[in-house]
Amino acid sequence: MLFSAEMENSRIAWTHHTENFWLGCDMIAPECAHCYIGRILRRQGRQPWGQLYRSTTWGNPDKWEAEAAAQRKCLRVFTNSLSDFFHTAADAWRPAAWEVIRRTPHLVYLILTKRPELIARRLPPDWGGGWHNVWLGVSTGCKQTLNKMESLRRIAVHPKAVRFLSAEPLLEDIAEDIDLSGFGWVIVGGESGSGPQYLWDPNADWRKEFDQRGRREMLLQWARRLRIVCKEAQVPFFFKQVTAFRPGQGEEALGRTYHEVPPPPFARWAVKPEQTQLRMARVS
Ligand code: SF4
Repeated sequence: MLFSAEMENSRIAWTHHTENFWLGCDMIAPECAHCYIGRILRRQGRQPWGQLYRSTTWGNPDKWEAEAAAQRKCLRVFTNSLSDFFHTAADAWRPAAWEVIRRTPHLVYLILTKRPELIARRLPPDWGGGWHNVWLGVSTGCKQTLNKMESLRRIAVHPKAVRFLSAEPLLEDIAEDIDLSGFGWVIVGGESGSGPQYLWDPNADWRKEFDQRGRREMLLQWARRLRIVCKEAQVPFFFKQVTAFRPGQGEEALGRTYHEVPPPPFARWAVKPEQTQLRMARVS
């Protein structure tokens, strides 16, 4: 299979790069209903659901590692934005992916999953108390899936790593129900995908998913309330976007930009090229 490195230098503000070791997935939760991978994989002539494709971009992390090590900086790498790292159909490929991750210590892999209950049996044999460069995240944006955070809490992470939450798309107000203990980072955003491609279990009958062709609106007050919860818990808060197609759209909608990120496991984070441009624009 031939795939381009189109996700290199990601436009997603909370990561420097995106590495997809494989692509394709299956919908398993209300948040999946308008998953953007359907649009992207179909554009590549691929069937997005029911099968996985191994990518040809496995050499990218070695290249980024050399750059990061030379600069003595750390880079964040969103891992599998077009799949789920813990999908069972990738079990045969995952050990080789762990090898790549092991040999690139300046890259902090942000592994975001909706399948945290599958993690424990799919960790590398030398996981021990976790690796400094693997940050495990869970994705939940409604009360029905908040229990996924509990599954992730059971997985040990390195003292210099964090467990993180991606509440995107945020589908309802979860601020009162959320338990942030054991979590060190929260990312919030509105839905970007749209369309009638819902394939998840219809028995769940989660609000409006079946006839909703557009994006499900995130009310800003839900995001504001999550920010307050994070502030009280002293957990970094990252507001990515409002309900809109483009990453970063409306990122100042809460009154200012909230792009808080936990500290790297060592050294400093590299600055993203567009952040450099932004700074230059501000001083010119
Ligand atoms: S788990 Fe993630 S990648 Fe898979 S269908 Fe759901 S939203 Fe898309």
